[in-house]
Amino acid sequence: MIFFDRVSKVYPDDSVALSDITITIEPKEFVSIVGPSGAGKTTLLKMLLAEEYPTEGEVFYESKNVHDLSKKDLNELRRKIGMVFQDFRLIPGKTVYENIAFTMEAAGRSDAEIEQDVPHVLELVDLASKVWNFPHELSGGEKQRVAIARALVNQPDVLVADEPTGNLDPVNTYDIVQILKKINDFGTTVILTTHNKGIIDSLGKRVIAMDKGKVVRDDKEGKYFI
Ligand code: ADP
Repeated sequence: MIFFDRVSKVYPDDSVALSDITITIEPKEFVSIVGPSGAGKTTLLKMLLAEEYPTEGEVFYESKNVHDLSKKDLNELRRKIGMVFQDFRLIPGKTVYENIAFTMEAAGRSDAEIEQDVPHVLELVDLASKVWNFPHELSGGEKQRVAIARALVNQPDVLVADEPTGNLDPVNTYDIVQILKKINDFGTTVILTTHNKGIIDSLGKRVIAMDKGKVVRDDKEGKYFI
């Protein structure tokens, strides 16, 4: 379980990014976080990964305060939370296979595991045919599917997708959302930030709406109407 307990964040330049946020996210939930630019969505995600420290309040992952973890436990936490970004963040000089293998090597996985799991995870995102291509040979939608495969290959408990469809056309956006739903159906918690009203309305899942650092709405089967 993820628990934000009265979390506030004021950056050194006095920007108030989060203001007294209390939310709970249960295992296997699919949660969308919406809100205008500057609402605090990215800061919230950074807090979960302990990339930023709260000014007040505490953030818990499975009952442990993420800001009190040892370096080893923090690395472990970050392996449990797969990340996907709007700009894909693939390594340009590596093939699709190598991009995914690299993440597995960093997690200490064996060559045999890598050879077995990379094709498997590419099947999951329907991209097995592109295993030897480089990122510049892929469409935006395909790049994002590689990024999702990479985020999943170490079997995280949670997948965090920060505006994953921000650079994609409607058809690719639809495909990415279907993949996220499938991943969630398999039991992975999904946390999605998006500006895309269509996605939220079609998902029919929990929506947390933020504005100016505050949660202004938290609906179990929300629609986007901020
Ligand atoms: P969102 O992801 O919803 O666009 P952010 O979390 O990026 O929102 O930003 C929330 C607020 O915090 C904004 O006012 C932004 O300018 C400010 N902010 C974000 N990161 C920093 C930073 N590193 N230093 C100072 N202010 C920041």
